[in-house]
Amino acid sequence: MSSDCIFCKIVAGSIPSQKLYEDDDVIVFNDIKPISKVHFLIVPKLHVESLASCEVQHQALLGKMLLLAPKLAKEQGLAGFRTMINTGREGGQEVFHIHVHVFGGGEKLPRI
Ligand code: 5GP
Ligand code: ZN
Repeated sequence: MSSDCIFCKIVAGSIPSQKLYEDDDVIVFNDIKPISKVHFLIVPKLHVESLASCEVQHQALLGKMLLLAPKLAKEQGLAGFRTMINTGREGGQEVFHIHVHVFGGGEKLPRI
């Protein structure tokens, strides 16, 4: 838990979120500013700053987060989706608690 981290506050329940899934390791909630019809974030309960801070001890957690993406995307009615992990300020990361974006629905997503 990092006291000034917004996602730690969501994990702790002190900031509300539209939760889609939760277990001992992970919480999943809708992005507050969705970029597609469906846009949710897969967030570990453990505070880890970014993908660049991950080490081998986080391997199973990262795998769990990725495997949740297709399961929850299907539950949200998505036939296809995009995953994104912004890493570091130059990579577009704004919240420094690692998370996987999952989004899709509506128009076919543009080629990146
Ligand atoms: P990043 O740019 O770090 O990859 O993405 C952070 C994401 O978190 C953004 O898409 C932003 O809309 C979302 N976000 C920031 N603050 C909150 C919040 O308080 N609640 C929710 N649900 N999403 C948030
Ligand atoms: Zn945090």
